[in-house]
Amino acid sequence: TDKLSDADPELYASLRQELGRQQDQIELIASENIVSTAVLEAQGSVLTNKYAEGYSGKRYYGGCEYVDIAETLAIERAKKLFGCEYANVQPHSGAQANQAVFMALLQPGDTFMGMDLAAGGHLTHGAPANQSGKWFKVVSYGVTRDTNLIDYDDLEAKAREHKPKLIIAGGSAYPRQIDFARFRKIADEIGAYLMVDMAHYAGLVAAGVYPSPLPHAHVVTTTTHKTLRGPRGGMILSNDLDLGKKFNSAVFPGLQGGPLMHVIAGKAVAFGEALRPEFKTYAANVVANAKVLAERLIAGGLDIVSGGTDSHIVLVDLRPKKLTGKAAEHALESAGMTCNKNGVPFDPEKPFVTSGVRLGTPAATTRGFGTAEFAQVGDMIVEVLDALAVSNGDNAAAEGRVRARVQELCRRFPIYPTL
Ligand code: PLP
Repeated sequence: TDKLSDADPELYASLRQELGRQQDQIELIASENIVSTAVLEAQGSVLTNKYAEGYSGKRYYGGCEYVDIAETLAIERAKKLFGCEYANVQPHSGAQANQAVFMALLQPGDTFMGMDLAAGGHLTHGAPANQSGKWFKVVSYGVTRDTNLIDYDDLEAKAREHKPKLIIAGGSAYPRQIDFARFRKIADEIGAYLMVDMAHYAGLVAAGVYPSPLPHAHVVTTTTHKTLRGPRGGMILSNDLDLGKKFNSAVFPGLQGGPLMHVIAGKAVAFGEALRPEFKTYAANVVANAKVLAERLIAGGLDIVSGGTDSHIVLVDLRPKKLTGKAAEHALESAGMTCNKNGVPFDPEKPFVTSGVRLGTPAATTRGFGTAEFAQVGDMIVEVLDALAVSNGDNAAAEGRVRARVQELCRRFPIYPTL
C-alpha cells in the first residue's frame, strides 16, 4: 500500500502531531483559521498533477478542460462574493499577489506609500528587508500617538509632497475600520493608484461585517486563508478590466509559472462556503467574539491598542503588566493558547521582543466558540499573564491550571473528528 502512514511513517507522524496540536490548543493567531474537510480534500486531490500555464480556455498545455472548470468556478464565485468584475485566483500567496500589482503598475525606482510595519503594515508594503522596500522608494505612513488610528492628515501631506504612483491601504495588525473613501480621495488628488490589501479582513468583507474596499480601490489584493477560511494562497480583484489584463500578465508569465490547480480548487470550495448564509453568521460572530475578548482583557488590566476592535484582531499592549511580547507568547503557548508577539505602535522594544501580542478570533470561532467561551479565553490569558508578571519567569502552576481548562474547552468544540 502507498497510504502515507505506511509509505512514510516518519512524515506521517509529524502530520498526526500537528493535527493533535490543532485539536488540543486554542488558536489565537489572527492570520490563521481552520478550513473545512472539503477544502482539505480539494487540496489533496489529483489536481496537483496538472500543469495549466495560462488562463481558462487559453492554456499552454493540453488536457486542461477539467481544471478550467475548477478555475472558472473559483473566479466566478470570487466575483460574486466581493461584487466585482475581475478576479485572478492564481497568486500562490498574498505576497505574490502584491508583487504582481507592483509589477503591473510600477517600475523599479518608483515611489509608493504603505503603512509602516511598526504601525501594523505588512512586510510587502515597503519594509526595508522586502523586495518592495528594496526595489522601490517607499514613503511610509503610520498611526497617531493618541488614538493609534491611521494618521490621515499626515498621509495626505506626505502624498502631496512625494506624489507616489501607488498608495496601499491595509495591514496585518490594524484592528479598526479603514476609511477607504478617504484613501481614494487622496489618491485621486495626486493621480495615484489605490491598492487595498484586505488579506486580514477578506472574510469579514465577504460577509458584509467590515467595509468593502472594492467600490473605492483600483485594485484589491488578499490572501485566501485568513478570515476567508480557504486554502493558503492569494488573489487579485478589481472592477477595472483593463487593469485586470495587466494583472493577469504580471501573475503569469510575469512572476509565476504553472498555477497550483489543487489550491485553486480549494479556493473555489472555500468561496462557495463563504457565499452561504452561515458564513455571514460566522463572520459576525468573529467580530462579536473579538469585542468580548478585548473587553475582558481591559477588565483584567491590559491595554488594547486603539481601545478595542472593529474586526477579528485584538492587539494587546502588555506594558501595564511590564511584560514583553516574547515572554507572553511563550507563556500562553505553554498554557495551550497559540498567538504571536507583535509590536505595538511606537514600541520601545526590538521587533524580536516587542511589547505586545496580536490575538485573533477567526480560528476558535470556526470551532464554535461564542462570546461565553471568548470571555473565558480572556480570563485565562489574564490569569497566565498575571502569574508571569509576578513569578520571575516561573509560572508553571498557572500555565498548568489554564492548560487543563483549555483542553476541556477544546474537547467541547472538537475539530476534524473524522481525520
Ligand atoms: N498582506 C497582508 C496584509 C498580510 O497580513 C499577509 C500575511 O501575513 C500577506 C499580505 C502575505 O500573505 P502570504 O503570507 O500568503 O504571502
